[in-house]
This record gives sequence, C-alpha cells and structure tokens, in this order.
Amino acid sequence: MTLPPEGHPRYKSLIAREKLVEATDVVAKQGLIAHGRGEAFDYLLGEQTCPPAIRSIKAAASLIRVASSPVISVNGNVVALAAKEVAHLSEASGAKVEVNLFHRTSERVAGLTKMMDEVGIQALGMNPDDKIPGLSSERARCCSEGIGSADVVLVPLEDGDRCQALVEMGKQVITIDLNPLSRTAQTAHITIVDELTRCLPLLTDAIRDGVKVDDFDNKKNLKEVLAFICARLS
Ligand code: ATP
Ligand code: MG
Repeated sequence: MTLPPEGHPRYKSLIAREKLVEATDVVAKQGLIAHGRGEAFDYLLGEQTCPPAIRSIKAAASLIRVASSPVISVNGNVVALAAKEVAHLSEASGAKVEVNLFHRTSERVAGLTKMMDEVGIQALGMNPDDKIPGLSSERARCCSEGIGSADVVLVPLEDGDRCQALVEMGKQVITIDLNPLSRTAQTAHITIVDELTRCLPLLTDAIRDGVKVDDFDNKKNLKEVLAFICARLS
C-alpha cells in the first residue's frame, strides 16, 4: 500500500482509498464508485458522527442485543475497509457474518471469506442454499443458516433493491449508509448515517455496554440528519 504522508489533512480518506484499490480482486469496480459517493456525503457531515447517528447506533445496538439470530452481511467494500471492526462486532454480539455480493462471483466470495478468516471469523457465503425472494438470480443467493433464517440483518453499504427485499422477507434491517437519501437509507428500519469504520466501534461498544432503546423513529432520525447537514451548509 502506498502510504500518504502522516499529518496529511486527508490521511484517513487516502488510506481508505488505498485499501480499496489494493483489494480490487475482491472489490468490484462499482464499489469504488459507491465509495466516492459515500465520501461526498461524509464531507457534508464534516467527517464526524453526528448526534442523530449516535441515536441510531444506540437503537441498532439495542435491536441486535435482543435478536435471536443476528447476521452481519458483508460485501467487498465492507471487508476491505473494516474486516477487523466487523470481527469485533461479531464477537461482541454473537452475530454471524455472511458474504453477500451484488456482483457475485465464487472467486470474490472465496477471497472475502479468506480475508475474514484472517481476522478470526468463519464467514458464511461460499455455499448458498437459499434465496432472497424478489431479486434476480445471483444477487438473490444467500445461506439458510445465515441471512435465510436471520431475524435481524445488518447490511452496511447495501443496495436499495436488496434492502427492500430483506424488509419484505420480514427481517428487521439495520443499515450503515452515508447517504441519508439513498433507497437503502429510506427503506431500512434503522439507518445509521455515518462512515463505516467510524461507527462500527461505537456500535460494538454500545452492545458491550448493554444499551437499551425503547422507541426509535427512522424517518424522524433521517430528517434530523438532513437538518444537521443543512445547518452546516448555511
Ligand atoms: P441505493 O441503491 O440505496 O439507492 P445507491 O445506488 O446510491 O443507493 P449503492 O452503491 O447501492 O448506492 O450503495 C452504497 C451506499 O453506501 C451509498 O449510498 C454510499 O453513499 C454508501 N457508502 C459508501 N462508502 C461508505 C462508507 N465507507 N461508509 C458508509 N457508507 C458508505
Ligand atoms: Mg444501489
């Protein structure tokens, strides 16, 4: 990896780009475009975890804690950027990890499974035996012992179609998405509008701390995020 000079004002951002570029055998090219869109929204947020995101992190922690079969669905961007953070979240919550790809090839699933293996997680996904109804062929494939039978699914950086399909299956869906306007952000039950690597440790800590939230309104929370961005822009 080509390291940017320490103290560079965009150090973290440059490291994230390097990680994704380095993982281009497992990260689809479309994933690089999605990353750029995320960066643009993070700029608008001031590259910080905003107060409404803190509230949605707490609500997500509360839901994951009471779940009987929680699953973290990971794609190329998520593993390339945050394999370790996902491993810590899985350990703290007992959630299984499943590799689930929009642009699915068995080579990419195998590569990502190996990367999760290197951080101590046996991820599901190599032998999908189940389907998410309403999605076309390869994108629909999932594992019956993972997403297929999950009650709560965390889908960071997810596509709107798959998020909608999971909601229609009756899953409780949590997403992490920097774009508060994306279909995914608007469709999930709990949307954490924050950068992946910044919010995963906060979510893990909230689970370890036994955080409990009784009521949460996702639409209201998203409006608060937009108000936060507008206030910064004006
Ligand atoms: P949708 O399908 O939900 O309408 P989209 O088509 O605009 O959204 P996708 O490529 O399907 O986008 O999903 C990727 C999402 O992940 C984008 O909304 C992007 O802003 C977000 N994203 C990218 N990188 C990060 C990151 N590091 N942390 C959090 N969110 C991110
Ligand atoms: Mg999409």
